[in-house]
Amino acid sequence: MTNNFPDFITLLSQVNSILISGHINPDGDCTGTALACKQLFESIGKEVTVYSRDSYPYNFDFIKGYDAVSHELPQQDADLYIVVDAGAPHRVGDELLEHLQKTSSPIVLFDHHEISEQTQDFPYTLRYIDENAPATSVLIFRLAQEMGVEITTDFSVAVYAALLSDTGGFRYSKTTAESFRIAAELVDAGVSPWDVSSSMHNRIPLNAKRCTAEVMTDLQMRSDGKIGVIEIKIEQIERYGISPDLIDGIVNEVRSIDGVELAARFREEKSGVYKVSLRSIGRIDANAIALRFGGGGHKNAAGFTFEGSYDAGVAIIEEMFREQNK
Ligand code: AMP
Ligand code: MN
Ligand code: MN
Repeated sequence: MTNNFPDFITLLSQVNSILISGHINPDGDCTGTALACKQLFESIGKEVTVYSRDSYPYNFDFIKGYDAVSHELPQQDADLYIVVDAGAPHRVGDELLEHLQKTSSPIVLFDHHEISEQTQDFPYTLRYIDENAPATSVLIFRLAQEMGVEITTDFSVAVYAALLSDTGGFRYSKTTAESFRIAAELVDAGVSPWDVSSSMHNRIPLNAKRCTAEVMTDLQMRSDGKIGVIEIKIEQIERYGISPDLIDGIVNEVRSIDGVELAARFREEKSGVYKVSLRSIGRIDANAIALRFGGGGHKNAAGFTFEGSYDAGVAIIEEMFREQNK
């Protein structure tokens, strides 16, 4: 990956209106990255719309621009489309994907997922993909530096929140010395690590904790305790009256159990359809398993949508885990 963005900077000088989108079921990285982009491009006089099919996570509401996100595509075609943190084109959601397939405006991707075939085949005008970057927001930070604009505190908060989120608090495997250097620069620019982490982590609704506790009780261990699997039913989410994304992080709890090398969380979205998240440790390749189901992600964190029974899905995952362990 190059740190040079001259082609993009030239392209930027030729456009006025920009539409930015992250991915469906947005997480902290795509939220922070899209809002950092908004601030960056507005600072040089562009007209910027941030689009997201789904609502941004509530615990990132401290980032500047959070309330300005549009959940509907504007009627008018933008001069430039920027897609961030989407490991496959369809991750922007069907409506925007259809539009991107029709528009003659340039489309630029900034991402850090393992490059999928779908990403390779999609006619992006420019692609900036750094598979080693700990978060997509880091690419936007490098871009801002190269553009020579002022690194404001609000921009730094957006980049930092995304980085903190996608590294699991500077713990995951893509956390490098450079991650800490960038974090230090962001703190120099005015970010308060405690304010950001407290806003992100210390606001979990009581019912989400209670639902997590109930779901944890039914945790199943497979393959001699090397796999932990968990199912969340619609009924449970409805009974606790919580937003479904509040319980998705439970997959990290499952991975944290001693001996677990692969954690799988199946959350029922509608009858017979599950949003599945995988987390792995070390050499176990969660991305390879997700690809088998048409999803994707990173080696140690990946996801996919599964249609079928929970037991059938778990059986395939267990078999693929055994294959990898051979
Ligand atoms: P999650 O388990 O939803 O936190 O996602 C873990 C990683 O896998 C993230 O980097 C996601 O962008 C990616 N991911 C999740 N679901 C999918 C999917 N259906 N297709 C491609 N990538 C996905
Ligand atoms: Mn993401
Ligand atoms: Mn990301």
